[in-house]
Amino acid sequence: MDVRQYRMLIGGELRDARSGATLEAVNPSNGELFARFPKGGPDDVDDAVEAAAAAFPAWWATPPLERAASLEELAAVIVENAPELAMLDVTDNGSPIREMRKDAFNAARLLRYFAGVVLEQRGDTIPGLHGRLNYTLRHPFGVVGRIIPFNHPLMFAAGKIGAPLIAGNAVVLKPSEHTSISALRLGELVEGIFPPGVLNIVTGLGGDVGDALVSHPKVRRIAFTGSAQIGRSIQARAASNVVKTVTLELGGKNPIVVFPDADIDRAIDGALRGMNFTWQGQSCGSTSRLLVHRTLHKEFVERLASRMAALRSGPPADEATDIGSIVHRAQFEKVMNYIDIAAQEGLRLVVGGVQPEAPALSGGLYVRPTLYDDVPATSRLLREEIFGPVLVVVPFEDYDDALRIANDVAYGLSASVFTEDLSTALSFARDIEAGYVWVNDVSAHFLGTGFGGLKDSGVGREENLEEVLSYTQTKNINVLFG
Ligand code: NAD
Repeated sequence: MDVRQYRMLIGGELRDARSGATLEAVNPSNGELFARFPKGGPDDVDDAVEAAAAAFPAWWATPPLERAASLEELAAVIVENAPELAMLDVTDNGSPIREMRKDAFNAARLLRYFAGVVLEQRGDTIPGLHGRLNYTLRHPFGVVGRIIPFNHPLMFAAGKIGAPLIAGNAVVLKPSEHTSISALRLGELVEGIFPPGVLNIVTGLGGDVGDALVSHPKVRRIAFTGSAQIGRSIQARAASNVVKTVTLELGGKNPIVVFPDADIDRAIDGALRGMNFTWQGQSCGSTSRLLVHRTLHKEFVERLASRMAALRSGPPADEATDIGSIVHRAQFEKVMNYIDIAAQEGLRLVVGGVQPEAPALSGGLYVRPTLYDDVPATSRLLREEIFGPVLVVVPFEDYDDALRIANDVAYGLSASVFTEDLSTALSFARDIEAGYVWVNDVSAHFLGTGFGGLKDSGVGREENLEEVLSYTQTKNINVLFG
């Protein structure tokens, strides 16, 4: 196979790391090396931050509708190149083509949304004395550091630069070292869309490039999407030398709660879709704790298990594949370790817990959809984010019991509730400790509504106007004219 060498985008130029060091991109579904890319270091981050700082004043001064036009242009380029970008993610990340194809279009939609709200970044005028005018402006931070995880490589690389850019900031983007290739291809495709330095893409290890960005004194705004563990360390590290604004989109252990009056067919479908088995469970929003009322429990688990058993494991590039490969070996070992822990804890395995048997898949990091039933409150599988295709079931007695179990974790990202009773639905939506709640539905994001978590799931909201405004600070201006 042709092993391509990709380069970083710094100050409008495609560059290797100053050190010349590289990392390897390996297809997790078959272990094949398919690309090399720069292993950047703090000196490369310095270059990118300096380029961004130099580009910022002119970008900020660019008329808002022209900034919006640049985002629209980027969206069009992504759509035009969607097949190639999707295939890069399939090869790098292991998720099935049917899913990864959607990511390019979701990224374009996000960019178009942010372009569309450019004129909504308004201020206030404050009533005052005659002869005085008091008003507010929105002041961008200058250089924004954007750090993203592995699970939607292109969608995050493109979609998460939209808000800071439309607010007038320059961006330094750091993709996951496990899935950097589509972001680097994006860096090639943006040529001519943004002035040099407005968007910079630096690759390398989190502890080198990510840390250098988080601790850089000229980067006053960090937006991080990733695990709670790294998110907490970033929150502390960001304060090490200057004051920074940090937002965090972190992990989840999201409950799906099925009350006795629920439409059971719809709820079973929801439990299957909510787990995002089509991304091997690797989604922050995966509903990985299934709380079912005791009256439905037995039938629910039997029917769900047979639907899970029917999901087809296969090569991610195959259109017929439902569940592909875990993204990289350490993540695969993490998932398999939880399966070992389940055995040690004596959990009741209903389905899965193994790799697929097909010899054709033996070279990849595949895990079958896995279901454990009657999981006790003490189980680690009930409390810790696995980020794999592993679902745990807990039967409950009544509303209070369900709510207590649902809230009894450190995370608070999202939740789903299935019930036909309006009062139960609205009460649960109010009481659950989660930043995003679905009633009789799962997973869908709606552009313009804020996504983000409570508790250890994060700080801040994204995919809405609030996200755009979070890349600005309010400035108050008091004019005496009388
Ligand atoms: P991760 O936390 O390991 O890494 C995320 C990013 O942080 C990567 O780019 C990595 O290189 C970088 N990084 C690592 N150490 C760093 C450091 N010390 N300083 C700065 N940057 C550093 O996460 P992951 O394994 O790539 O992704 C999975 C996690 O992301 C899960 O917990 C998942 O729930 C979460 N996630 C959350 C959302 C959300 O919107 N809330 C969306 C997707 C994924």
